[in-house]
This record gives sequence, C-alpha cells and structure tokens, in this order.
Amino acid sequence: MTLPQIRPNHPASCHCGAIQFTVTLVPEGLATARRCDCSFCRRRGAIAVTAPLDGVKILTGHDKLTLYQFGTNTAQHHFCAVCGIYIYHRRRSNPNELGVNVACLEGLNPRDLGDVEWSDGINHPSDARP
Ligand SMILES: [Zn+2]
Repeated sequence: MTLPQIRPNHPASCHCGAIQFTVTLVPEGLATARRCDCSFCRRRGAIAVTAPLDGVKILTGHDKLTLYQFGTNTAQHHFCAVCGIYIYHRRRSNPNELGVNVACLEGLNPRDLGDVEWSDGINHPSDARP
C-alpha cells in the first residue's frame, strides 16, 4: 500500500482552526501509525504517528492548547480547549517522542492508512505490578 506523502513541517490544524501547527515526523513517517488500547487512548480513539520532541511547532493558538495528565503524569496530552481535538502528546513509553494526531495533518484521510496496528497500551510495562 502506498501511503500519502507527508513532508517536513507539514501543515496541520485542530478542527476549529484555533491551533495551527506543523509536524515533522520521524524518518519512518506514516509507517509509525498506531492505535492504542490504554485507558485514555481507547476513549480518544485517534491514530497517532511518531515525531521527535521538536517535531511539532505550534504556530497559532498557544493559549488554546490545553494539557491533560493522569496516573503517573509522565505522558502529556495536549488538546484544543475550543473544539476538544487531540493535537499531540509526549509519550510515556518513550518521553523522547511525541505522538501526533494523524487526522490533523492537512490533506490526509486516516482511512488511507488502512488497517493500523495496535499498541499494547493496556499491558504497559509502567503499569505492571511486582
Ligand atoms: Zn480547536
């Protein structure tokens, strides 16, 4: 399957348009697309792709970008305070990476990604009990 081309500093936005940003993915690009079944992601339902820590640049709407944290507070989930759309998050599994809402990327229909692999979020090693 041929994936859509995502260029460096690819334009992206939330639904209401308050938050405009650009995304530069890791070299593996859209092949990093994953769903996750942890308590949060299963409710959010978004497909995330991987970017380096400096891979998301917020151009407008800094004041609308809102942080949600829970549990160990390691992961930082950022969303738009106006339309509620998930923008990106700093990962708990690898705090040196960002997950980005693939559906925010301009010109991309998440349907084109086909069957997206699942991450085993429900059995996250950070939640394992001794
Ligand atoms: Zn918005």
